[in-house]
Amino acid sequence: MNTVSERDFIYTAQPSRVVFARGSFGRLASEIKLLGARRALVLCTPQQVAQAEKASALLGPLSAGVYSGAEMHVPIESARQAREHAREVGADCAVAVGGGSTIGLGKAIALESSLPIVAVPTTYAGSEMTPIYGITEVGEKKTGRDLRVLPRTVIYDPELSIGLPLGMSVVSGINAIAHAAEGLYARDGNPVMSLVAEEGIRAMAAGLRKIARNPSDFAARSDCLYGAWLCGSVLGHVGMALHHKLCHTLGGSFNLPHAETHTIVLAHALAYNSAAAPEAMERTARALGTSDAADGIFNLASDLGAPIALRDIGMEEADLGRACDIALSNPYWNPRPLERAALMDLLGDAWTGKRPSARVIAA
Ligand code: NAD
Repeated sequence: MNTVSERDFIYTAQPSRVVFARGSFGRLASEIKLLGARRALVLCTPQQVAQAEKASALLGPLSAGVYSGAEMHVPIESARQAREHAREVGADCAVAVGGGSTIGLGKAIALESSLPIVAVPTTYAGSEMTPIYGITEVGEKKTGRDLRVLPRTVIYDPELSIGLPLGMSVVSGINAIAHAAEGLYARDGNPVMSLVAEEGIRAMAAGLRKIARNPSDFAARSDCLYGAWLCGSVLGHVGMALHHKLCHTLGGSFNLPHAETHTIVLAHALAYNSAAAPEAMERTARALGTSDAADGIFNLASDLGAPIALRDIGMEEADLGRACDIALSNPYWNPRPLERAALMDLLGDAWTGKRPSARVIAA
């Protein structure tokens, strides 16, 4: 393992307040007051109106109502409508109750208005800890980083994720692990984020295995949410690589579901990078309690009944070449150079759901 002295780094901490406790949802009004806000617009998807109504009730006179127009990938039209609605009701704060899609809508509003966001995450995707936004326009998802979209306060209440169905919990949790696993070999990584990443993977993997046995295990739900916080924090602080590029391509250009795609691709991306990032692999494997990082992720997904093949989530085999070309056309930095033939093997294995094999780096 490298010592700190062998590695130069710059670490800029992202400012955010985290309130983590069972029942912390009940502190929503006091957290809004702490921000100096007086009219909080509560955002949600149509599926989570009940939780949003509860937030609005908790806010009482501080509520500017519920807006239930959050959608996957934040289409520009929905962002425009939400911005307009926030202006109409005179909102001075947005409360996002939900997963990455709802928090993403809050970010789209904040990007234009600088409205502070209070995030109340109910999945493990981790968007609440990042200054990254994404908005989809004419079929293309554009992402960027802007500190205005970083939620000011994050309320983690494990009670809100007890109802997250097991299947969604597992893929959402492995989506979170992907942030930490790639953070461990990030070009701009640092020792603090590596500690956070390893602990995040450990907490999430252990929590997921427990909730697979009992989805109502409160302590396990807490572990998963704690892992989500740590893994999301890694995503917010350091750059991502091949795995995230492939998933953005498959989601953005082939409309594959976000968390499921991450779950399937991660083991293969780690296998691809394994020889180029041995320390990161060692840390990921250790956090998973296994000897091989890629194998450990593959086992976690398959043991917990998650999808393991792209062909099972709507990918056409004939499109793999196009996906590879798109991913290569505007690549992210990666510890191992990107080679088309090896990437096609990776995508082929991910498509069939084959156990990943460490791929030797070409001389
Ligand atoms: P999601 O927010 O799209 O939620 C999926 C569905 O689950 C929605 O219908 C939602 O209402 C429902 N749901 C959420 N929590 C629930 C609960 N506790 N009980 C029952 N139903 C619940 O899914 P996601 O995976 O959290 O987010 C995916 C989106 O977030 C993608 O668009 C992705 O690109 C984005 N994302 C962004 C970042 C970032 O840093 N900007 C990070 C991670 C993900």
